[in-house]
Amino acid sequence: MSNLPSEPEFEQAYKELASTLENSSLFEKNPEYKKALAISAIPERIIQFRVTWEDDKGEVQVNRGYRVQFNSALGPYKGGLRFHPTVNLSVLKFLGFEQIFKNALTGLSMGGGKGGADFDPKGKSDNEIRKFCVAFMSELGKHIGANIDVPAGDIGVSPREIGWMFGQYKKQTKNWEGVLTGKGLAWGGSLIRPEATGYGCVYYVDHMIKYASGGKDSFSGKKVTISGSGNVAQYAALKVIELGGTVVSLSDSKGSIIAKEGGITPEMVSTIADLKVKRKALSEVASSSDFSGKVEYKEGVRPWLHVGNVDVALPSATQNEVSQEEAEGLIKAGCKFIAEGSNMGCTQEAIEAFEKVRKEKGQDAIWYAPGKAANAGGVAVSGLEMAQNSARIKWTSEEVDEKLKDIMKNCFENCLNTAKEYVTPKEGEFPSLVAGANIAGAIKTFSAM
Ligand code: GLU
Repeated sequence: MSNLPSEPEFEQAYKELASTLENSSLFEKNPEYKKALAISAIPERIIQFRVTWEDDKGEVQVNRGYRVQFNSALGPYKGGLRFHPTVNLSVLKFLGFEQIFKNALTGLSMGGGKGGADFDPKGKSDNEIRKFCVAFMSELGKHIGANIDVPAGDIGVSPREIGWMFGQYKKQTKNWEGVLTGKGLAWGGSLIRPEATGYGCVYYVDHMIKYASGGKDSFSGKKVTISGSGNVAQYAALKVIELGGTVVSLSDSKGSIIAKEGGITPEMVSTIADLKVKRKALSEVASSSDFSGKVEYKEGVRPWLHVGNVDVALPSATQNEVSQEEAEGLIKAGCKFIAEGSNMGCTQEAIEAFEKVRKEKGQDAIWYAPGKAANAGGVAVSGLEMAQNSARIKWTSEEVDEKLKDIMKNCFENCLNTAKEYVTPKEGEFPSLVAGANIAGAIKTFSAM
């Protein structure tokens, strides 16, 4: 019996990966990878620290800060920082573990890590958030570096917070280097980094649609339900609209907006983006003149069971945001493609529901892509930001977008071909992209280990 405390999120992520490896021919072909899997379940290093900061009333506040340096076989630890009250070690270990294999799938030289704090930016003033970022970096800064560990943003950490932390790192180390990604352009940030996760996810799904239709179909005319309204959801929505699809929903932690005829427009996305900067809720825009009559606001629910028939679903808010019941609802609503913009967006039961239909229904099946493949575009452009910083150069938006498209294409083909090789699909069955992503990420990482 183990005397370790339970870590439900991490255990879920580990089991999901381990079970697909065990149900493939990977360990038969490479018996030594079994040991590599056991080794990779334990982070190389975890740093936990106290963050004390002063609020606007002059009172001392304290939070827990963390950095999980999970695996450096492929390069410096790389992964975001999450500031959210739900942050604890289990959540960061799950995210860091996913990040190892996701980063491997980008084909770039990046190991896996994740960090953050149980700090809640909601309800804090800009000044308080800045003070927290400075206090957080004064400790984290001792453990990171451009060739050691390169954090970036995640939930609650946008380019503004990255900027405050970058300034503090530079001040305390006297060292200008690409130690963080997702920076503003003035500090060496990359063009297309804000867009990258959302765009990359849509590029990935575009390959799924093309493969499933033998090259005949595209996003054009597709109804797409998206959850979330942060950076990932916003740019996924804009890219879907650009490719001719209709976005029928967005959401936040309090409720969903469901679009009527015509779908969500780019103008609506831009109003929502302004609102998010002010940390306001979607319910506030839903009743405004730009939106009224065009959307319906549904309090306390995620969009999945409220959007009617859809073709594509992109969970882009947070982990475990699609339950088994919601997965079954999406299947009934005719949804054919699910791809996670968020990390571990679907529960294990939801994944099983999608995978069951994939196996049973051949070419009519539903096809599910896990976050570690579908949302790898964000960290991929972070990798491109590291490359630009080291080389002291700057690529144009077009250059970065082209590289992102290439990375997502390679990632899709790698998942597909690996699944075909290691879990031979039956005649007419789509290869499992979950198995493909896990096995392809594992092969790259374990061979380096
Ligand atoms: N937080 C993002 C992710 O989950 C990006 C990490 C990064 O750019 O390092 O992949």
